Amino acid sequence: ATPTALMVGTGRGAQLGILIKGPEVLESTRRVDTVVLDKTGTVTTGRMSLRAVHAAEGTDEEELLRLAGALEHASEHPVARAVAAGAEERVDALPRAEHFENVPGRGVRGRVEGREVAVGRLSEVFGELPPELARAKEEAERAGHTAVVAGWDGAARGVLAVADTVKETSAEAVRDLRALGLTPVLLTGDNRAVAEAVARTVGIDEDRVIAEVLPEDKADVVRRLQREGRSVAMVGDGVNDAAALAVADLGLSLGTGTDAAIEAGDLTLVRGDLRVAADAIRLSRRTLATIK
Ligand code: ADP
Ligand code: MG
Repeated sequence: ATPTALMVGTGRGAQLGILIKGPEVLESTRRVDTVVLDKTGTVTTGRMSLRAVHAAEGTDEEELLRLAGALEHASEHPVARAVAAGAEERVDALPRAEHFENVPGRGVRGRVEGREVAVGRLSEVFGELPPELARAKEEAERAGHTAVVAGWDGAARGVLAVADTVKETSAEAVRDLRALGLTPVLLTGDNRAVAEAVARTVGIDEDRVIAEVLPEDKADVVRRLQREGRSVAMVGDGVNDAAALAVADLGLSLGTGTDAAIEAGDLTLVRGDLRVAADAIRLSRRTLATIK
């Protein structure tokens, strides 16, 4: 590989909105045959909104929103921002949360108005859901929403459904990646029903959906695919994607994502448009072909 040709590749990359860490990065795209796409914030906009609130019988909806909203206000997770914003619209004022704790890929815990509140998919806090809430959760997930449970003092008190939208460009991006001979895989910490709904929308096969993966396990999924003989490109935006981006043969971070992801990636797609992932792979193949 002549350095000049690689430099031409990186220059062209900048024009396309791709930041390349170093010219040698292009070499690692040569064998890539699988593209793992994070869901939230990568295939979807990550801008979620609160779509439905179901308070358990005997629980006041205003109180549910006030306590859950106060706690989520302290978190930067897309789900948390949606819950906090939705609560702010519906209640007068959100109280302050004390000793707030973030449990990555699971949710948040803390003290609000003297109560031990938790929001998320913290099954260790809530245990099995009462049938009424289990039904509400199932219904929300069937509709393609992400349902989180909120509760306090050891009991689940309600289900909050948030939803995100698939980026307009994601379906075309998946088609472009397939046209390059790559297998798209969807990887997410979110639940299976939501992940499958998103996969259907963008054209990823159902058996290529890997859902309900905890942040610390995302890198293991990439390693497993590599052990199966695949050469893996990973595209992600979140703190929870950083380890997977680092382990992948090629890590593509979104410029719209978190600093941790950008630092872990080899390439950055500046505008967060997934179609540019295909451009990046096409560009590097072309650059390497000129060199040979
Ligand atoms: P992804 O892999 O799609 O980016 P995450 O791993 O960040 O998703 O989150 C996985 C799931 O954990 C969310 O869909 C949500 O159910 C739950 N979760 C994580 N953080 C929070 C939070 N702050 N509040 C509520 N739920 C949360
Ligand atoms: Mg994400």
